[in-house]
Amino acid sequence: MCKRLRFLTLLAVLVLPTQAMSALASEAQEVIHAVDMPETQAAGTFFTGVVRQQRMFVPTDDAPYSVTLVTFEPGARTLWHTHPAGQRLVVLDGEGRTGTADGRVRVLKKGDVVWCPPRVKHWHGASPTSSMRHLALTGSDNGATVQWLDAVTEQEYAKKPQE
Ligand code: MN
Repeated sequence: MCKRLRFLTLLAVLVLPTQAMSALASEAQEVIHAVDMPETQAAGTFFTGVVRQQRMFVPTDDAPYSVTLVTFEPGARTLWHTHPAGQRLVVLDGEGRTGTADGRVRVLKKGDVVWCPPRVKHWHGASPTSSMRHLALTGSDNGATVQWLDAVTEQEYAKKPQE
């Protein structure tokens, strides 16, 4: 073995394990059991119709977003609103709708993912005839995740959706 290769091997033996170990933290994992995250009726001030939600995660410094599981019964939807740091929706079940201020209404189906950029006015909810469940991952801007606006009128909600 040439000197250079021996040197590199020695370096790898000494340095690599130290680097690998330094990447490990001693902080314990946290498991939050489902029973400790009860599903509650959502406040009627922010929604139209019957909506239940399970708050799973509030924003922290390390992970500045909230995670909420939301179930909309048929016809139920949010008010118009914006998110200061944006929002991702992951549709888990049923069929839903989402609308934007340009008048466009889109169909949401199981497995669909929506990215709503910061400060874009929108709403989301169930279809008129099907319930819809989504995970909402909502960015936090200095603790603020949402700004609520007006209710979505029946006319706005009933608009013919696009896929
Ligand atoms: Mn939203």
